[in-house]
Amino acid sequence: MSFVKENILELKSKLPKHVTLVAVSKTHPVSMIKEAYDLGQKVFGENKVQELVAKYEELKDLDIKWHLIGHLQRNKVKYIAEFVDMIHSVDSLKLLKEINKQAIAHKRVIKCLLQFHIASEETKFGLDYDEAAAILSSDEYKNITNVEIVGVMGMATFTDDREVVEREFVNLSNMYKKIKTEFFLDQAGFKEISMGMSSDWDIAIEKGSTMVRVGSIIFGNRNYNI
Ligand SMILES: *Cc1c(COP(=O)(O)O)cnc(C)c1O
Repeated sequence: MSFVKENILELKSKLPKHVTLVAVSKTHPVSMIKEAYDLGQKVFGENKVQELVAKYEELKDLDIKWHLIGHLQRNKVKYIAEFVDMIHSVDSLKLLKEINKQAIAHKRVIKCLLQFHIASEETKFGLDYDEAAAILSSDEYKNITNVEIVGVMGMATFTDDREVVEREFVNLSNMYKKIKTEFFLDQAGFKEISMGMSSDWDIAIEKGSTMVRVGSIIFGNRNYNI
């Protein structure tokens, strides 16, 4: 059996049933995606629009749910609106409006997550509570018809200190509960907490993650020089 298949079987055996595995295939060839797909893996994540589109085109015949997990520029939404299942990285009202516009153009509803800034690093994108609340209480948000916000997403600080990561995941879980209570109480569809990667998926699940985005421990290390 290939290492991709072995890795995915091992990880799957450890994940609770209610947790969705987003297999992060960025930088890896479609042949590896097919190996995972052969084992029943349907959800794949990419962080760059160009790479996502290329892989979608090549694998159109497969019943894959493509998730865009990386930062998304407004002018690139149009390239993925036709097929993307979920966008994890919504961090502004302007982006949300553009996704809605493109979803309408393709007669689709696109599921989105609000990305929160939980890490101590300055470089990570994301909202804080007040910014999210401002979006969700705006009149413009009320006019959004073709985007369904289904939860929250966050990335922990890149550190070996498990306590730091734990604290940040607890913060995101609390943020989810607060947003759910204030804005989505009657909406069963708002149920996802996307947190946890190769190095910290176990901590994330302990702290309430429903969706882990895992790449390297399935597909191996990424080589950005090819
Ligand atoms: C690359 C990436 C991941 C997966 O990272 P691994 O450490 O390889 O598991 C998860 N989330 C986002 C947003 C990413 O860009």
